[in-house]
Amino acid sequence: MMDGYQTLDDYTGRADRLPVIFTGHGSPFIIGEPDSPHKAAWRQLGAMLPDVKAVVCVSAHWESRGTKITAMAHPRTIHDFYGFPEPFYEIEYPAPGAPDLAEDIATMLAPIEAGLDHDWGLDHGCWCVLQNIYPGANIPILQLSLDVDLSPEGHYAIGQKLKALRHQGVLVIGSGALVHNLQAIRPNMWGGQKDAISELSEQFSATVREKIISGDDQGLVNWSQMGAAAEFAIPTPDHYVPLLYVLGMRETDDKPYFFNDVTEYAGLSMTSVLLA
Ligand code: ZN
Repeated sequence: MMDGYQTLDDYTGRADRLPVIFTGHGSPFIIGEPDSPHKAAWRQLGAMLPDVKAVVCVSAHWESRGTKITAMAHPRTIHDFYGFPEPFYEIEYPAPGAPDLAEDIATMLAPIEAGLDHDWGLDHGCWCVLQNIYPGANIPILQLSLDVDLSPEGHYAIGQKLKALRHQGVLVIGSGALVHNLQAIRPNMWGGQKDAISELSEQFSATVREKIISGDDQGLVNWSQMGAAAEFAIPTPDHYVPLLYVLGMRETDDKPYFFNDVTEYAGLSMTSVLLA
């Protein structure tokens, strides 16, 4: 690993502001894996985070025209996956919303118009992660949508506007995947063997990791210039773009702490990072 590579075990927290987090949320199959090391890392994260007033989740699974923010008092649990075992559809994550905070965030984003939403809720990109970080479902959760008409710079700029939340006790979590190529997905090769596809995934994750460590946000915003590995890793922008919000919120003296830093199913990255 390159210089500057640290993990959650190296993170000690700081008093003046909250961290900001990007996490790979993986396949919904993770719901049914009690011994998942990824869930263990989310639980570890939950145990080490300072108290927060609320969480804003930027999930890959909520795309919309215009930016929206959930503003209901009781967001529903959305089971937005298909063909999974029946018990997966019975899971509820009854975290409250925070309508007043939604209005404050809409104001913070001006002149970008953020619509207050009363229809969405918590999709699986959000609750599959949050139910491990905050198993008590007692922290208010809001979701912020991805405006499909925004450029990568536009997503990054929204992140910059949200930076003040770090001083207001509001934790922002981007949930997606650095590599999300469903065409390439196939069973994990637990024997540790790798092939060209998993090599490509890992190569792209490594490039992103290096740019996060070196602070090359501009390079990460301009992902379309990152060549063949990026074309493979980001066939559609939805799972990558939550990272840009998180990068937009970083302060120059933040350091990255990586976790779940592996590739699954050849074409799905779990690589996650806390900036603090
Ligand atoms: Zn997803």
